[in-house]
Amino acid sequence: MKCPKCSTELDKVEVKVFGARNKAVSHQCPKCHYFEFEQDSSKKVLEELRDTPLKIRQKIVKLSQDRLGMYFNSHVVRSLNIRKGREIFVSVPDKKHIVLELAE
Ligand SMILES: [Zn+2]
Repeated sequence: MKCPKCSTELDKVEVKVFGARNKAVSHQCPKCHYFEFEQDSSKKVLEELRDTPLKIRQKIVKLSQDRLGMYFNSHVVRSLNIRKGREIFVSVPDKKHIVLELAE
């Protein structure tokens, strides 16, 4: 596969997404940093993660300068028993999803 921008051969990179056995595959250009996700592979990852009973609509808020954030409402806080300072892993399987996993 060649980069559509500069025709360099793309590197195939497998991305492990927390909570999913399938890996998301992306193709990245070593020269101009163009990248794209392999649709089928990210679809499989998201299907694995879809079995969630909780879906909440939230807004992204501005924290400072170019940093953005998101609030967890009390329902989420209580059901996950999380508190300030708790570490999470963030994975991005495609351009429409962010997956968060609580660190042990
Ligand atoms: Zn390129």
